[in-house]
Amino acid sequence: VFSNIVRAPEDPILGVTVAYNKDTSPIKLNLGVGAYRTEEGKPLVLNVVRRAEQLLVNDPSRVKEYLPIVGLAEFNKLSAKLIFGADSPAIQENRVATVQGLSGTGSLRIGAEFLARHYYQHTIYIPVPTWGNHPKIFTIAGLSVKTYRYYDPETRGLDFKGLLEDLGAAPTGAIVLLHACAHNPTGVDPTLEQWEQIRQLMRSKGLLPFFDSAYQGFASGSLDADAQSVRMFVADGGECLAAQSYAKNMGLYGERVGALSIVCKAADVASRVESQLKLVIRPMYSNPPIHGASIVATILKDSDMYNEWTLELKAMADRIISMRQLLFDTLRDRGTPGDWSHIIKQIGMFTFTGLNTEQVAFMTKEYHIYMTSDGRISMAGLSSRTVPHLADAIHAAVTR
Ligand code: PMP
Repeated sequence: VFSNIVRAPEDPILGVTVAYNKDTSPIKLNLGVGAYRTEEGKPLVLNVVRRAEQLLVNDPSRVKEYLPIVGLAEFNKLSAKLIFGADSPAIQENRVATVQGLSGTGSLRIGAEFLARHYYQHTIYIPVPTWGNHPKIFTIAGLSVKTYRYYDPETRGLDFKGLLEDLGAAPTGAIVLLHACAHNPTGVDPTLEQWEQIRQLMRSKGLLPFFDSAYQGFASGSLDADAQSVRMFVADGGECLAAQSYAKNMGLYGERVGALSIVCKAADVASRVESQLKLVIRPMYSNPPIHGASIVATILKDSDMYNEWTLELKAMADRIISMRQLLFDTLRDRGTPGDWSHIIKQIGMFTFTGLNTEQVAFMTKEYHIYMTSDGRISMAGLSSRTVPHLADAIHAAVTR
């Protein structure tokens, strides 16, 4: 009965790693997937995460029972505090419904399913470009995906005028997906003044913000600074959704730990919203895994561990920033044609190089460097040892 099934294409991002794994060259370099690597090119488990795991393992009261449908209550509270701020009026007034999700992806999916069932407007606007999974997550949940202009290839910066025009023309109540910080794949974020204009426009039209926060702390190295956009929208008393991921900022990629928060107008609304979120979650996976959420809660509730985390996070962010500078300097010293200043202007894990599909294919074939075909490279996958190799490849690709 399955013999007629056609082969599905590889995932555009994870497929890059599949191709990389098949390459036997000793100089191969994977800049496709957004995963942090050390200067030695190794995956990193944060020290503070190891400490938290030790505490959990040695605590005999820890058992492996099911969590509630909404996940670990303590984790949910701390996650809301992390993104909205400890002094957030929405939290103090119990207007936030937070549930544990399967990392950022799972949290986005719960939010999307909830909106498809309970929100009157089924159109969601996503930026061009955006993370490739966004349109799939929203479409499969039953929302109708439209786009708004975001990136200007000419300036390699924000197309702010296009963004305002497109959101200005969106129907009342439409949902708008916003990257909270460190926009993927472009590394281009609005300034705080621009965020304020976006907020005013969206609130005046009753557009519903759905924040995707996958890189809190990774853009600037400061958890508070990277949550400014979200906090602006919560400060005005209006509603919003926020999906959080601890994959990057705590390095918990494979533990699949994240949260979805829905900020409501009143406590009784939030409580009813939470009851409906349970109905979304129960038939999908019943309840979330316990280990990753326990690690996060252990770290967030202890001031000493929290401080250690912020230092380790800052070190990761700083290493990425130093790779930006090094790549920029190396291209400048080689006299590679073109303006490469966007490498140091863009923020977060990725640089949107501006290299085209053909140049990317050339770099993969000749230099064994793997990246997504849109020219996005993960700066977190670079080291001082590999930057010269990448610069050689870029130089060759643009002077061919
Ligand atoms: N949103 C964006 C913008 C991302 O870049 C990612 C990770 N690549 C995610 C969400 C979700 O990742 P995860 O499900 O691993 O938390």
